[in-house]
Amino acid sequence: MIELQNVSVSYGDAIALYPTTLKLHQGQFTVLLGSSGAGKSTLLRCINSLHASQRGATIVAGLGNLANSRALRMHRRQTGMVFQQHQLIGRLTALQNVSMGRMGYHTALRSLFPLPAKDQSICLQSLDRVGLLHKALSRVDALSGGQQQRIGIARALAQQPKLVLADEPVASLDPATAERVLSLLHRICKEDGISAVVSLHQVDLAQRYADRIIGLSHGRVIFDAAPQTLDQAS
Ligand code: ADP
Ligand code: ADP
Repeated sequence: MIELQNVSVSYGDAIALYPTTLKLHQGQFTVLLGSSGAGKSTLLRCINSLHASQRGATIVAGLGNLANSRALRMHRRQTGMVFQQHQLIGRLTALQNVSMGRMGYHTALRSLFPLPAKDQSICLQSLDRVGLLHKALSRVDALSGGQQQRIGIARALAQQPKLVLADEPVASLDPATAERVLSLLHRICKEDGISAVVSLHQVDLAQRYADRIIGLSHGRVIFDAAPQTLDQAS
């Protein structure tokens, strides 16, 4: 569904991602695995054409080359992002934060309620999916780390995305919470047929949840395989 053709990124003289060609498939849960600085975040952002210095082409089925600004706008609209530090606004409620995924930041801030009924209902459903409907009216800074990240997931879901890009979504959580949050993200993506690309540094989590693991080191893809074959490949 998404094809990267010779995509590369440099920061000045430093190459963050060497030319990379790969196809991402509809409905798959793909994990980008590698240590800090390997290029996971850089590759993830290329899928959304978020780097000014990006070279090569990103082609999305049904939309075409993201060099086309209309295709890029459509693609970003159907792509939910989840971040390590979740990037929620602490002084706003869970529901207000989730509505930003649905309405866009500026629209949501301008009209911080009432939302149109249909949008409000989708936002509440998204909170329900992550088990936090009862926290809809709580300020986000009063929630635990695991709950905040589940709100981050709900915000992405409120966009009704076809694709979720998650950059180290569980890196700030203790191991047990990390597993629960990743398992939740995995289950929702599978239930809704959402494609996901998730960066992680934990091999065990990647092996348990990934359909496909793309290993990165020093800006290069060093393996690309189903998790069962990882032991031989690494
Ligand atoms: P990962 O997500 O695997 O930790 P990144 O994609 O963030 O890796 O980084 C890949 C490389 O690019 C690293 O060497 C990092 O230092 C470098 N890098 C990332 N962002 C910047 C930036 N804004 N300016 C300069 N170098 C950067
Ligand atoms: P934290 O550890 O950060 O407080 P948890 O992920 O442990 O957050 O969740 C807190 C509570 O919410 C737990 O009792 C857990 O069982 C429950 N919970 C977690 N995920 C869901 C979910 N998807 N649906 C319903 N309840 C959930």
